[in-house]
Amino acid sequence: NWAGSQPPLLRFLHECYTDFLPETGGAVADYIPELGKADPAHFGISLATLDGHVYEVGDTRVPFTIQSMSKPFVFALALDTLGAERVESVIGVEPSGDPFNSIRLNAENHPFNPMVNAGAIACSGLIHAAKGDGAFEYVRHALGRFAGRELGVDEAVYASESATGDRNRAIGYLLRTNGVITDNVPAVLDVYFRQCAILVTARDIAVMAATLANHGVNPLTGEQVVTPYAIARTLSVMTSSGMYDYAGEWIYRVGIPAKSGVGGGILAALPARLGLGSYSPKLDKHGNSVRGIKVCESLSAHYDLHMLNRA
Ligand code: GLN
Repeated sequence: NWAGSQPPLLRFLHECYTDFLPETGGAVADYIPELGKADPAHFGISLATLDGHVYEVGDTRVPFTIQSMSKPFVFALALDTLGAERVESVIGVEPSGDPFNSIRLNAENHPFNPMVNAGAIACSGLIHAAKGDGAFEYVRHALGRFAGRELGVDEAVYASESATGDRNRAIGYLLRTNGVITDNVPAVLDVYFRQCAILVTARDIAVMAATLANHGVNPLTGEQVVTPYAIARTLSVMTSSGMYDYAGEWIYRVGIPAKSGVGGGILAALPARLGLGSYSPKLDKHGNSVRGIKVCESLSAHYDLHMLNRA
């Protein structure tokens, strides 16, 4: 029996795959028209351990856009590139309790945190202030170092969001009038839309998550991608705000720092343990992948991984 000869972890991931494949709840995001073309049947689960093993089940090599899962990496990059003081002076770290695309800023007229669109656009603005026209390539290369391979861009998704992303543009102008962004707003939004259209697979996301879980050292390449300071702060905001207005439920039930994206990905990084990447395009009302949430809940329960329940 083939299943019986698999390592227990791989067998468990197979069980998750078969248990949750029939789940058809949720809807593919289509407010970015090109995302509406995703195949809702796709389902991939990958788990990377810190000793460099990568387990994969299902559609783990299907490329999809990273979307909001770019936010933690660009935040970490901003901390290291501009210095924590500069970044922390314009972006808060409180959960907003609002949906990801909320236009509301905090009492200082700053973004609540770097995991919602306003905070992520502010991060892209900081990188643009530091790197100018080279900002996007700087981001793309850095995300590639987290993944351990060069990452490309889905030009169609980029063009689709750029053509329709007026809400994010409105956030950009609001940030500029409040001094959070100092550069040309269209140039900053261009970095943000492109970074959201970076192509990854569930396997890439598992490796990127494992790099977060491993103090910033990619377990496949051995490269220190960002500083341990940036990693600890990034995991902190993922813990409090990574799942938007589901973040409280998430940390209560699952207890693993995580980030979702409207492309259908979920990234979960358990410090000193593992990185998980899942891909399934149907989303719940918060914009989180329905099957991905189930995989994370199941993984956490099965292996007793809640981070506040450690021996
Ligand atoms: N690019 C998307 C947006 O700004 C990302 C949102 C998400 O993945 N939650 O709307």
